[in-house]
Amino acid sequence: MKYRHVILDRDGVLNREAPRAGYIRDPREFEWLPGALEGLAALRRAGVRISIATNQSGVGRGLMTAAELEAVHARMLAEAAASGGALDAVFVCPHAPEAGCGCRKPAPGLIDAALASGGVSAAETLAVGDDERDLEAAARAGIAAALVRTGKGRETEMRLCGARVPTYDDLRALAQAIAAGALTGLEKP
Ligand SMILES: [Mg+2]
Ligand SMILES: [Zn+2]
Repeated sequence: MKYRHVILDRDGVLNREAPRAGYIRDPREFEWLPGALEGLAALRRAGVRISIATNQSGVGRGLMTAAELEAVHARMLAEAAASGGALDAVFVCPHAPEAGCGCRKPAPGLIDAALASGGVSAAETLAVGDDERDLEAAARAGIAAALVRTGKGRETEMRLCGARVPTYDDLRALAQAIAAGALTGLEKP
């Protein structure tokens, strides 16, 4: 079975992470990673639904406003669409860690919401991230996951030391594998 829906983490998968564990507060600070736009376009051409699931606790911590985050996402959506890789939906956890919400990854809430919105079965949906908490959220939501080596990905790959998580250099390489049907029916973690 081929994947028909991907749920992508944002920072470290689509765009460069903010320096010093900060937050992207301004559209001008949103910098696409090499291969990300091409990867989105390849997924789109393959007919894959694209959701984003992102922790943005800077909002809950009072370090950025919801409006600032909206503006960043407006740029992201516009540029993705302009490159042929339009995003279908963006799911955000704006809460601070201590809020104890059910959506901040590794909690499964964002993945659950993306699954509920898509009309695509969990078995045909793949989560993609650069951080262990992305993989854990996928596991808790009962879907398969893959890792990219961008962002924190290389560090995460080392920490996992050989756990059976399919790992690709970047979103473009992963998208090509999905489009070619080379990444199908992974065992759920
Ligand atoms: Mg990330
Ligand atoms: Zn939350």
